[in-house]
Amino acid sequence: MFYGIRLDMYLKACYNQPAKPNFETGHNMSIVSVRKTEDYGQDTLDRAVAKHFDALKIADDLRPGMKVTVKPNLLTARRPNQAVTTHPNLILAVAKWLRERGVDDITVADSPAGPYHAANLRTVYGVSGMNALEGAAKLNYDTGWKEITCPEGFRNRSFNIINPIADADYIINVAKLKTHSMTTMSGGIKNMFGSIPGLQKPEMHYKYPKQEDFANMLLELAGTVRPNVTVIDAVEAMEGNGPNSGDRRFMGFTLASRDVFAQDYIAAGMMGIEPKTVPMLELAVAKGLFSPSDITVTGDGAQTNPKPFKLPDSKKFLGFLPNFMRGPVSKGAALILKPLPHLTEAKCIGCGKCAESCPPHLIKIAGGKARIPQKGCISCFCCQEVCPAHAIEVRRRLGKTL
Ligand code: SF4
Ligand code: SF4
Repeated sequence: MFYGIRLDMYLKACYNQPAKPNFETGHNMSIVSVRKTEDYGQDTLDRAVAKHFDALKIADDLRPGMKVTVKPNLLTARRPNQAVTTHPNLILAVAKWLRERGVDDITVADSPAGPYHAANLRTVYGVSGMNALEGAAKLNYDTGWKEITCPEGFRNRSFNIINPIADADYIINVAKLKTHSMTTMSGGIKNMFGSIPGLQKPEMHYKYPKQEDFANMLLELAGTVRPNVTVIDAVEAMEGNGPNSGDRRFMGFTLASRDVFAQDYIAAGMMGIEPKTVPMLELAVAKGLFSPSDITVTGDGAQTNPKPFKLPDSKKFLGFLPNFMRGPVSKGAALILKPLPHLTEAKCIGCGKCAESCPPHLIKIAGGKARIPQKGCISCFCCQEVCPAHAIEVRRRLGKTL
């Protein structure tokens, strides 16, 4: 038992449930395929992708000449073994599977942290191993975007979406499973945030500084872009101070689903994170975007009971409290116990990445070091997310290091 749930019981309850139909395609939207995937060997990943896509009947969607965009998590320039970015061999397995079925217009595209320009993309592709995809898929260098109107009833009227995603006939979202300082976890839903160009992402943090509002924006973004299928790389995941400064955590799984919301729900459980403590999942259930009781888990790997993932420092204070205390405590204590970024000056290399990503533009570089004031900070942790030197940790206002 942890955080109020028993993962084995919760996953078992998902098996063999009647499936919710997707009224647009006739496919079962709430199937989540979970497969043991022990390593990043190409044969292992090719087999896993084929089994996932067979289970979801993805081949039925394909037609000659269609333009497919594969959206990895390319948060920033990190090597494949650092568990920050989607492993390139998984992207290659997806591209190979598509090519074997006659689809050859395949583009790999993401908008990493920082400015959205070709030089940044080139660096990220090089370090993350994506250059090895050349020949199997095109790497995107088009840095334009389009304004895409949201469906009726959304609080957002539109989103600016990078061209290769806005123009795609079919979108395959290939996320990395990680903890996340602001959103608790990062899976398929959060991966769609990379559809927004470059420094417009911090602007969204500034527009929605409250967690619930930011969670709603992420759900509306996913509901606007609507990836056709999502694959999650959970072979080596990240725990602790994700999405960039955490620790690698071997899981040995991949997941796939047409239903990005239901899939994150299952992925959270596999991390030992109670979905109710993840604002975007709690809100997705409340909004009726999926129903946990309608999820069917297929495959060979879901019945497991792992040690819960270490949470990000920013989430630790409320993490050990029972549910009924979190609301009142969080309201009363928020002001004095607000988590804030704190610089370890000796580690700072003065690169300025934190300053360019800080939504309220608080951070300045002086004397070759970052200066991070507390006043005005919205605790979004974009600065920690992009810092290449792991120089930013989270502390409470009272001064206790978490
Ligand atoms: S200082 Fe860091 S946590 Fe605070 S608003 Fe800026 S980027 Fe966000
Ligand atoms: S804190 Fe990190 S991101 Fe900011 S200037 Fe220093 S090294 Fe760069």
